[in-house]
Amino acid sequence: MKKIIAKKSLGQNFLKDEKDLQRIADTFDVSSNDLIVEIGPGKGALTKYLVKKSSDLFCYEIDERMKEFLSSFQSEHVKIIFDDFLKRNLKEDLKKNYDHIYVIANIPYYITTPIIEHLLTSSLFISGMTLLVQKEVALRFAALPGTKEYGYFTVLLQHFFNIEKLFDVSPSSFSPPPKVMSSVVRFVCKKEIVSLDIVSFSIFLKKAFSFKRKTLKNNLKEYDWDSIFPILQENHFSSNVRAEEIPYEVFVKIFTKLNN
Ligand code: SAM
Repeated sequence: MKKIIAKKSLGQNFLKDEKDLQRIADTFDVSSNDLIVEIGPGKGALTKYLVKKSSDLFCYEIDERMKEFLSSFQSEHVKIIFDDFLKRNLKEDLKKNYDHIYVIANIPYYITTPIIEHLLTSSLFISGMTLLVQKEVALRFAALPGTKEYGYFTVLLQHFFNIEKLFDVSPSSFSPPPKVMSSVVRFVCKKEIVSLDIVSFSIFLKKAFSFKRKTLKNNLKEYDWDSIFPILQENHFSSNVRAEEIPYEVFVKIFTKLNN
């Protein structure tokens, strides 16, 4: 096989530690009527473990040079799509109904948030995701209120998932090594997801967190403070509270009240 020079612009850091790859592949138990989606299979390091699962597998790879590594995986159960994942309509790609859809991938770090946003807005029900991401980003995803990592995207993700950082992966486990530490994060879909308008909720959260140093009251000037404040009081927060201190459940209560 031809030697491929990794493209930095496509986030190509190939994971070579077989133990880590196996651990990532085994993070969810899947069955025959399930689907695994892999974004950025690259040379197939993780794919070779995922094809052994009983489920179907869909892989999206933007770099056509990877064809020679990935073509041999294609089968009745394994589909490899050479395209930009962010441009795909996932619902249209799936020709079948699955019991569960899991995303298991070592994703390109430069588009971590767009990939997750694309998945969340795909109108597919994602039962779980295991993603290898930059450690700093992993800490943000799994952050608790009151920590500096806690932000708008943490709260939005917590609407859908219980999030757990599983383990760290050092730069030496990749070729070429990235400049940063990496972590594997698992997202397990919540049993009950509160029904709300996710686009408006997302706008509301972005505003709440818009200026880090400002209080919630200042950031949410355009919303009705008389509806918000009693909920803060019930939850033992003062009028000077900042968004960073407020847990997901309280944000949902405030948002629901504002929309009633
Ligand atoms: N999964 C492989 C591994 O574990 O070694 C490769 C991971 S590498 C971090 C990320 C992969 O995502 C690369 O193969 C890259 O070409 C691919 N990629 C980058 N941008 C993409 C996009 N927009 N859509 C699909 N694949 C993309």
